[in-house]
Amino acid sequence: MILEQTGKICDRLYVTGHHLMPAFLLASPAPVLFDAGVAAMGPHYLRDIETHLGTTDALRYLLLTHSHYDHCGAAPFLKEKISGLRIGTNAHAAKVLQKPGAVKLIRALNDNFVDVFKNVIGAENIPFEPVAVDLILKDGDELDCGGGWTVRVIETPGHTNDSLSYYIPRIKALIAGEAVGVFHNGGIQPEFSSSYGDYMASIEKMAALDVDILALAHGHILTGDDAGGYLADSIKTTVLFRGRIEDYLDRFSGDREKVVEAIFGEDYDETVLMQQDKKSFLLNLRAQVLVVAEGK
Ligand SMILES: [Zn+2]
Repeated sequence: MILEQTGKICDRLYVTGHHLMPAFLLASPAPVLFDAGVAAMGPHYLRDIETHLGTTDALRYLLLTHSHYDHCGAAPFLKEKISGLRIGTNAHAAKVLQKPGAVKLIRALNDNFVDVFKNVIGAENIPFEPVAVDLILKDGDELDCGGGWTVRVIETPGHTNDSLSYYIPRIKALIAGEAVGVFHNGGIQPEFSSSYGDYMASIEKMAALDVDILALAHGHILTGDDAGGYLADSIKTTVLFRGRIEDYLDRFSGDREKVVEAIFGEDYDETVLMQQDKKSFLLNLRAQVLVVAEGK
């Protein structure tokens, strides 16, 4: 089954905020939120957390999949509003979230997002501030969430160097961020922005898990056969996308910007609501062309 909505996925697992900019809530005895979209989504997450947990202060952990602006944007806001909230992510992302240059970029991309999508998320802008990380996570760490609930940390680099995915064994749920690409218009968009080799190895690592629920970034939750099928398709689509970039690099004699223009013209669909604004779509695409051109 493919779900595109907010609310309940299964017992104790919810989509909060907006399904296109989701934060996933695990209502275990020590509740966990996975990812924190753009800054302006903060109040939307808070509202839904209160609905599902009764009080926002019950939330114990916020675990981030990576340090891109549309996954960590609301982290400072949530930390300020929820007393005792502990943020977890990997060591590199923890540094990024406090580094002046990176904070400035995250803030600018958040501001741009509000300009483009204010009709969907509201015009209230919340400036992104540096935020301290409390838990430095690494591959194989298990977070005890009480009552037999655990969350396993899986290092899944390739989309970014700091990408983490989270597996909840009790319900066989995988929260993969963008480490497995994004799904739209019935197709898969690969997201190997830092390394093709790492990205493929990460998907293969996740494909070896027993997955019943695959929570994707930006729009879809896949369950049952759709979840396993997606991971296999993601591997195939990524190989094809790399080949396409290589063909264009040959055709344009290595001119990366021409390759970006050609693929942008073919793939970018501005009618896909909140899929990705033009600026960040181009940032991502440029990064992927560079990865292929330089054999990263
Ligand atoms: Zn990302």
